[in-house]
Amino acid sequence: MIEVVLLGSAQDGGVPQVGCNCCIDLKQRYPVSIGLSDSDGGKHLFEATRNLGEQLRLWGVTEVDSVFLTHAHFGHVDGLGLFGKETMGVKGINLYCSKSMSSLIERTPNWSLLLTDGVFNLNSESEVKFPGVSIESLKIPHRSELSDMHAYLLRGDKTLLFLPDHDTWSETLEGKDIRTWLSDLGVDIALIDGTFMSEDELQNRDQSKIPHPPVKQTLQMLGQRQKGDPEIVFIHLNHTNPLCYDTNPVSSLGWKVGIEGMRFII
Ligand SMILES: [Zn+2]
Ligand SMILES: [Zn+2]
Ligand SMILES: [Zn+2]
Repeated sequence: MIEVVLLGSAQDGGVPQVGCNCCIDLKQRYPVSIGLSDSDGGKHLFEATRNLGEQLRLWGVTEVDSVFLTHAHFGHVDGLGLFGKETMGVKGINLYCSKSMSSLIERTPNWSLLLTDGVFNLNSESEVKFPGVSIESLKIPHRSELSDMHAYLLRGDKTLLFLPDHDTWSETLEGKDIRTWLSDLGVDIALIDGTFMSEDELQNRDQSKIPHPPVKQTLQMLGQRQKGDPEIVFIHLNHTNPLCYDTNPVSSLGWKVGIEGMRFII
């Protein structure tokens, strides 16, 4: 049995977010992450967040065999150091990411030290096989100041897409509609970017500088869930997103909002 657990459902800053009162009473959400158990019990973590400790406890594991990274934005990588000698002190974990992300790791002193110390072995293969499941990376347009961005397709008996961040549907879909794009990729379960509910959600910030397709737009494109549609779950919620406390706009159409501990069998 291949199981995937949602270990974090929030955007990079988590919920509640530091320095903010708007979300202070909301249930805590960790920065986005998933855990995959292969059919031999191997444990594979996607993203290394600063809440790694809580996330491994939630998952019920104390060590992982490999770590996959989608891209270099802060919330997805700021837990890498926790594997090093100051904390877990583990060795020989396979760290999978793109060539551009690998090169950033090699060029960043704090991270290259983790390579020198043998904590991580870097690996940039675009397809990796584990017992009962293979992992494929898929390049996705997203702000690339530091590295490019790759979503992951986890293929067991079913296929799960992990797409926490992207800029716009028009760039990602390249002329297709969401259903066709997912069906061409063979996706049964899609964990997708639900950062903002609407395009004018941030009161004091220029939201155009942090583009994500608003959930409202995605829902408009999808409409009601039809027979044969994949399961779609919105993740990577910003602390300002009303879906953090009211999932009705999504669930009334037959889709889901991610929450820590959600499990998927693939
Ligand atoms: Zn992010
Ligand atoms: Zn807030
Ligand atoms: Zn990002």
